[in-house]
Amino acid sequence: MNTIPELRQMDPHAQDYIDFLNESHSPYHAIAAMQQRLEADGFCRLKERDAWSLEAGKKYYLTRDGNSLFAFKMPAGKPTRFVMAGAHSESPVWRLKSTAHALNKKGLRMCAVEPYGGGLWQTWVDRDLTMSGRLMVKSNDSIETLLVDAGRPIFRFPSIAIHLAKERKDPLNFDLANDFIALFGDSDDSDESEEGKKKAPKIRNGWDDKLMRLLLDSAGRTDLAVDDVLDFDLDLRDVTPAGTIGFNNEFIAGQRQDNLHGSYTSMRGFMSAQPSSDAVQIFASFNHEEVGSRSNTGANSVYTASILRRVLNTVSEDEYQRFIASSFIVSNDMSHSVHPTLSDRHDSTVDVKLNKGCVLKISGRQAYASSGSSSALLRFIAESNKIPLQIVSNKNTVRGGGTIGSMVAALTGCLTVDIGGPLLGMHSIRELCGVKDVSLTISLIQTVFDQAQTRMALE
Ligand SMILES: [Zn+2]
Repeated sequence: MNTIPELRQMDPHAQDYIDFLNESHSPYHAIAAMQQRLEADGFCRLKERDAWSLEAGKKYYLTRDGNSLFAFKMPAGKPTRFVMAGAHSESPVWRLKSTAHALNKKGLRMCAVEPYGGGLWQTWVDRDLTMSGRLMVKSNDSIETLLVDAGRPIFRFPSIAIHLAKERKDPLNFDLANDFIALFGDSDDSDESEEGKKKAPKIRNGWDDKLMRLLLDSAGRTDLAVDDVLDFDLDLRDVTPAGTIGFNNEFIAGQRQDNLHGSYTSMRGFMSAQPSSDAVQIFASFNHEEVGSRSNTGANSVYTASILRRVLNTVSEDEYQRFIASSFIVSNDMSHSVHPTLSDRHDSTVDVKLNKGCVLKISGRQAYASSGSSSALLRFIAESNKIPLQIVSNKNTVRGGGTIGSMVAALTGCLTVDIGGPLLGMHSIRELCGVKDVSLTISLIQTVFDQAQTRMALE
């Protein structure tokens, strides 16, 4: 991994994005990292359970279940519309089973995990992994949530040697049930203290006591016992930090860039936008996009519409619908950069490259929400401000992915466009983006916030 001390001066957004990746060990850590940046910029926290009294010109944010976030800026004058940038906070990972996760196999301690989303799972094999997420613990008479990260390499999915598996011609052909049980120790790693030697290894509810103890200690909670852990949301993660690579340090390699890149660039573009006289400016980071977004914190739900309605709870239903008709949403999720040696997988009309700017995403089957009108608005804004914009549509024989854009458009009725930073190796444990695309995407989002209204003439 190269280090470039001057990156912080040359491109503070790119360096802060790398810092953000290295803080965002899990969706819960990512939301905490966003919270910290919003609070440093003067945003006040709202609780959904409380009554809100929102003031003109003030900045607010809320989180839901620690894994999703809405932030918004009230306009200086009477609100007449929304402008929103949305992304998602989570990525494909291996998730610890909260049934009986601790197993013994052939004298080794193994951990049962399940796949979350559609990862390139072969990239997880033979990498040094650790564990991150949250524990829900009994604390006095209530339940407390702790952010935890084991921090050091503990887990590994060992590959089978080539000499022993010559029939495995397809390296992608893994058995998700048997090839992905994470090794994390010898089975005889019992307590070496005199007291420990007397008792057999204890596994509460099939959970591994030592893992739970390590995670409690990582949160500084030596006061809590392993039996205080009621449940958890824990993911494996790569221990190698994100950083720049390339001859001129032109790329950023790291885990979970889909879609921490979208969350980070949307948030920074939103924070940098000029205060509006009439638009409520909104940034949202949703959960569960990788598994269909159907949850109380996902985009395929009442979440967005209910927050929008609550922000404007003093206006009539008719006025609210007029707002919706004047509003604009940008859905920001990663886009495929053309693979240098497998370019036949991409449509022949597409030439998306790293470091050449954000990508407008178009799909005839509405996998993306972009329409001719929302794309025209985005192109107009990019062109008038000399912000580079690349365009992608899938090859006709490749189904491609979807994202939050179409869901948010359908559930709010707002004009929506889909964009995203270009990425190589989407859903790998080590995705690759371009250093320049961080700032280029931020400047596009910021300009949308600043100019969407003046360029809008759509009926
Ligand atoms: Zn994504």
